[in-house]
Amino acid sequence: MADRPMVRGRFAPSPSGRMHLGNVWSCLLAWLSARSAGGGMVLRLEDLDPDRCKMEYCDQVMRDLEWLGLDWDGQPMYQSRRTEAYAEAFRSLERQGLVYPCYCTRAERLAVSAPHRSDGGTVYDGRCRRLSPGEREALARTRRPAWRVQVPEKTITFRDLLQGEYKEELHRDCGDFILRRSDGVYAYQLAVVVDDGAMGVTQVVRGSDLLDSTPRQLWLQEVLGLPHPAYGHVPLLLAPDGRRLAKRDRDLELGQLRETYTAPELVGRLAFAAGLLPEYAPVTPRELLPLFNWDRVPRGDMVCFLPADGNGPEI
Ligand code: GLU
Repeated sequence: MADRPMVRGRFAPSPSGRMHLGNVWSCLLAWLSARSAGGGMVLRLEDLDPDRCKMEYCDQVMRDLEWLGLDWDGQPMYQSRRTEAYAEAFRSLERQGLVYPCYCTRAERLAVSAPHRSDGGTVYDGRCRRLSPGEREALARTRRPAWRVQVPEKTITFRDLLQGEYKEELHRDCGDFILRRSDGVYAYQLAVVVDDGAMGVTQVVRGSDLLDSTPRQLWLQEVLGLPHPAYGHVPLLLAPDGRRLAKRDRDLELGQLRETYTAPELVGRLAFAAGLLPEYAPVTPRELLPLFNWDRVPRGDMVCFLPADGNGPEI
C-alpha cells in the first residue's frame, strides 16, 4: 500500500500583541485538523515587521499556546531571521523578469487603484511597470522604491477545506502586489510562501480574512517551484458590534481571558461554537481529537459574546 503523505499543519501567529480569542480559535482548529489526522504541527512566529513585533510577544504567544494545551514539533521559526531566504526567492522572481520597482507614494497608489477587493484592499493599476528607463532613473533619485511582482492574466481556482471552491482572476482582482517594502522589509505574501515551503507545510488553516491572499500565494508557489498546501479558512469571530476582533483594540485578549477562565473552559466554549460538542463543557484540545470533523465546523463568521470578565452571556 502506498504511504499516505503526512499532514503537516502550522501555527503562524504575528507577535504584534497578545493573542485574542479569534487567534486562539484559528490555532485550535489548525491543531485539531493536523493532529486528528496523526499529522505534525510546526510553529512560525511572523515577526517580519520590526515596528510592530516584539520578542516578548513571541515568548508570550508560546506560553499561551502551551497554556491552552496546543503543542508543536521542533524549534519555532522566526521570520525576522529569514531575510536571506526571502532575498533568494526575490532574486528568483527577478531572474524571471517579474519584479519591478514602484515609486508611487501611498496617496498616488490610492489614486490609481481600483477599490475592488473584497477585503477593502485596492487593485494597483500597474503604472510603475510601464515607466521608461529614463523615468525610472529620475524617480530613483527622489525616493526609495517598493518592489512589486507582475501577475499574469490568469485565473487561480482552489478548493478550500471549509469554504468550497474559491476563484480569483489575479490580474483583475488582485493586481501587481508588493514583495518588498520601500524600507526593505519583505512582504507577508512572499515570506509566507517561502516559509510554508521550507517548513514542509501541507495544510494551512487560518482565518477567512486571508482567503483572498491564497490565490496570490498559490501563484507564487507555482513560479517559485514550491508545492501547494491544502487550505482551510475558518470563520472569523466578531465582536458584538460586528467588528473583527483586533489586537489594537485589545478585544478579548488572552491576558484578560486567562484571569477569568481556565484553558479547558475557553477551549470548551470554542469547541461548542465549532460544532464539536453538543453542549458546552470544559475540555482539553487532546480530548477533542476524536471529535474533530470539518463537516461540523460552521462556515459563516460568528458574533462572539464571551465576556472578558466572565459576566453576562457567552458565545
Ligand atoms: N500571521 C498571520 C496572522 O497572525 C497569519 C498568516 C497565515 O496564517 O498565513 O494573522
